[in-house]
Formats: sequence, structure tokens, C-alpha cells
Amino acid sequence: MAESGTTPPAPQQPVAPGGAVAPQQRGGEVGAPAPAPYESLIPQSTGLRALLAPVGGFGVTLSNMFRKTVTEQYPRETVPTKPRYHGRHQLNRYADGLEKCIGCELCAWACPADAIYVEGADNTPEAQFSPGERYGRVYQINYLRCIFCGLCIEACPTRALTMTNEYELAGPTRAGMIYEKQDLLGPLRDGMVAGPHPMAEGTTATQYYRGEVGAATAEQVEWVREHRPDDSTLPEGAGLAAANVPGPTAARMAEHVAGAHRQGGAR
Ligand code: SF4
Repeated sequence: MAESGTTPPAPQQPVAPGGAVAPQQRGGEVGAPAPAPYESLIPQSTGLRALLAPVGGFGVTLSNMFRKTVTEQYPRETVPTKPRYHGRHQLNRYADGLEKCIGCELCAWACPADAIYVEGADNTPEAQFSPGERYGRVYQINYLRCIFCGLCIEACPTRALTMTNEYELAGPTRAGMIYEKQDLLGPLRDGMVAGPHPMAEGTTATQYYRGEVGAATAEQVEWVREHRPDDSTLPEGAGLAAANVPGPTAARMAEHVAGAHRQGGAR
């Protein structure tokens, strides 16, 4: 027991060789080994090399300045896509102008993003839009949902639905990103007469599917002349350019894309 008024002496710290104070070990503890001194694995430059080392980093920059540029200057320059690129959809027609879509909804069922909405309806003698019994009365694709996977075009039994290479899709509103049937229908070409009109005389839907039906027949043209005398796809009509106007959504989207190109400095 210490005498009153005196302080007990502090315990002595062990001193390691070289003068450093080694960590004090308590009962039962094992001391950590002293760390090895740091030694760089990179050989140190000396002389002229050491002097030029900061400038050496620019060598990578300088060597790349004279290489061929691979950066795409989009939207100033648009680069064509690969031929099988999955872009905007198109609803195709037969060679006489009838629609290929039969409103079966298989594309809508195949879509993993629930982006397609189809309502089928019956063709009638007064309004035959596609060969056979049914046609797609309502057809919508929501491009806010579409992931361009292409499962819809695989599901289509008549090759009515295919995908174009068009990738510039920009709309003013959410509703403005929903393409309707008139936005998706493929253009009318030479030999076609806009539907609705009867099927080519004496043909069946199967012959249409097999591609055995050609351009619109005289009877089909006459039927359209009788029911829609001002149709621009008639031989005496305003022509295909007047008939192939884009639907309202496609037209607005085209305006937006053109605006984006102007903003991007496209020529
Ligand atoms: S596009 Fe094809 S799969 Fe979709 S409803 Fe029309 S026919 Fe059926």
C-alpha cells in the first residue's frame, strides 16, 4: 500500500530497437507486427526522363488528334441504322391496297409491355378493309411503353405488322406518343387503291396471304369510283402524294423531330 501523500511510479514503456516505443501488451494479448516500410514498385525516373515525364501524358492526346474521328455528329448527321434495326412499326397492305391486319390481337397478347391495343371488327360488303371476315378497326401502339423487342411482329400471322428503321420518336405529350392506325398504316403505292373496297374478283383470303393477288383490278377501281368519286388514289385522282398524308400523331411527332434537328444545328 502506497504511503499517503506519495504518487505510485508510472509503469515503464518497453522501447523497441531503434528508439520507437512498442505498443504496450496487456495480459493475454498478441501484439500486431510492425508494418514494413513502403517501397514503390514503379521504377522512379531519373535525369531527362524525370524532366519530361509530365509532358509525356500529352502523348496519348497528340497521337489521337490525327486518328479518324469515330464520333457520330447526331443530330447534325444522321447515320443509317443496320437493316434489321427495330424501329417504329408499320401496318402493311396487300398489292391492291387492302389492309393485311385482321384484328386478331395476337400482337397485343404477345407484347410484354402491354403497349398494343387492338379492336377487331367485321368486314361488310359495303366496307371491306382487309381480305376475309375481320379487320383491325382500332389499332394503337403506345411508344412510351414499347421496348422495341419485336415479339409483336413475330406473333402476327399475316405479316401485317413489321418494324421500320425509324428511331426518331418524340412527342409533345403522353397522348402524343400513342400512334393510331392512321399513323401506322403503310403508304399506298402504285397499283393500290385505298380501302375499303371489295377483294379482287374470284380470290380468297388464302390467295391474298400467299401473295397471289396483284394490283387493284378494274372492278375494284370502278367500285371505289362509284362509292368515293373524289378518292385521290383513283387514276384520275389527286395522286398518291395527296393520299399518303401522315396521321395527326405522326405529323406532330415529325414536327417535334424536325425542331430537335434545328436545335441540334442540323442542316
Ligand atoms: S397486326 Fe397482326 S397480330 Fe396484330 S392484330 Fe393485326 S393481324 Fe393480328
